[in-house]
Amino acid sequence: MKRVLIAVFLVLALPVSAAVSEPGKQVDKQDKPVPVPVGERQFSFVRANLVSTFYHEFAHALIDQLDLAVLGQEEDAADVLSAVLLNRYFHGPALFALAHDTAFGFKADARAVERSGDGWAWWDEHGLDWQRYYTFVCLFYGADPTLRAWFARAMGLPGSRAERCGDEYALARASWGPVLDDISGHGPGHSLSFRSRARSARQQRAAEVIGTEVDRLNQSYALPETVKVTVRHCRADSSLAAFYTEGRRKITVCTEYIDDLYRQAPK
Ligand SMILES: [Zn+2]
Repeated sequence: MKRVLIAVFLVLALPVSAAVSEPGKQVDKQDKPVPVPVGERQFSFVRANLVSTFYHEFAHALIDQLDLAVLGQEEDAADVLSAVLLNRYFHGPALFALAHDTAFGFKADARAVERSGDGWAWWDEHGLDWQRYYTFVCLFYGADPTLRAWFARAMGLPGSRAERCGDEYALARASWGPVLDDISGHGPGHSLSFRSRARSARQQRAAEVIGTEVDRLNQSYALPETVKVTVRHCRADSSLAAFYTEGRRKITVCTEYIDDLYRQAPK
């Protein structure tokens, strides 16, 4: 399934079924979580892509709540914040593992498109998956070109792009840095609330990743309004991976996306 991270959904555009909860339908015996063996390598991939996707959606929430000017495509800006936050919160081998698996997620999506024969969605508001892959690799490398040159080579970043990546990351940090500084000035807070409706054991384990990131962001920042973060089955929206709902101030991470990550992950 092609990963689609939807930027902003106007409430009126949402199908009713996506906005209505169905209490009581989630915990019958058929859906009782059953432990499923998951390798650490597999889960590392799932975790990395959930973290970067969640940071991407957090960017949409910031753009909405703070009325940020976006000089360019919002989806690109959200990818940039995701890269900045990864570098801000993680270090050492853990950071490299996250970066590798995030990039691999874009690559897996790109190859899935190529295998499908459906062709590229040139009209999509997101960059093409290969563009998102190279831009992510570029930003990660550009954050520390001296120590990460091997990463850029290993990920196949062409020299013609690599030579500008230091400047690209500096611009990213200069653009998002003051925004983060502003909301951290009001933190820590409880701006992000978290609720999981994950069903299977491995969905629940993945949902805990989002819960951890909610706690992490709350420890740093406070937003003007509460943002509800929910992991849930998306039903009619099942082609979506995650999305931010403008007006309702909600970030939704679909369990279908979690299942898809488990399928994509190296075993
Ligand atoms: Zn988005």
